[in-house]
Amino acid sequence: MTLVGVLALQGSFNEHIAVLRRLGVKAVEIRKPEQLQNVTSLIIPGGESTTMAKLAEYHNLFPSLREFVKIGRPVWGTCAGLIFLADKATGQKTGGQKLVGGLDCTVHRNFFGSQIQSFEAEVSAPEVASQEGGPETFRGVFIRAPAILEAGPEVQVLADYPVPSNISTSSDSAGEEQKENVEQSKVIVAVRQGNILATAFHPELTADTRWHSYFLKMANEIIESETSNSQLQVQV
Ligand code: GLN
Repeated sequence: MTLVGVLALQGSFNEHIAVLRRLGVKAVEIRKPEQLQNVTSLIIPGGESTTMAKLAEYHNLFPSLREFVKIGRPVWGTCAGLIFLADKATGQKTGGQKLVGGLDCTVHRNFFGSQIQSFEAEVSAPEVASQEGGPETFRGVFIRAPAILEAGPEVQVLADYPVPSNISTSSDSAGEEQKENVEQSKVIVAVRQGNILATAFHPELTADTRWHSYFLKMANEIIESETSNSQLQVQV
């Protein structure tokens, strides 16, 4: 059984912990590098990615976070957490922002616009929905939400979303980048790449626990296969 850590520097970490509690899973708040050694999976919540990056830098968390992802531990990033996990981020005020990386994609930090352009919408993610039956869609809460504009071959797309017609291409410094990508009729809003799950929206702000269940299942499978591999190595 995986032991979940939730990065608790800033943002919606309490909401993630509350959902896990509803599912009967106790989570540990992570604020220091050494605390990562006590957990087998990690959730990086939504919030504000530059602030989160500054706090992570202050607490010297980047080397341990990168190692955690690199050694294959299950990690889920929601919204700002997705940005943190991307190999490349574009969009407003990205200059110099530190990322954990590991997810082979380019993310636009504020693709869906500013705070007042935040919205809720139904998002279709059949792979995740099929876990527990029920509807094939999820209520997606998009708050200053990012979107994945390009994803590498290893990245499995779990959900995409139509580009809203009100996306302005002229009002921010990333206009040129955005303009190129607005040609796309859809952008990616949920992905999995091996041990990494990432969503542009906030399942922790809804009553629907299916994304958390999906992550826990994925994490348990990874931990179990690690354990059986190491048992095999011992036997050989
Ligand atoms: N776009 C925000 C950022 O850059 C993320 C928003 C969120 O996590 N709700 O950090």
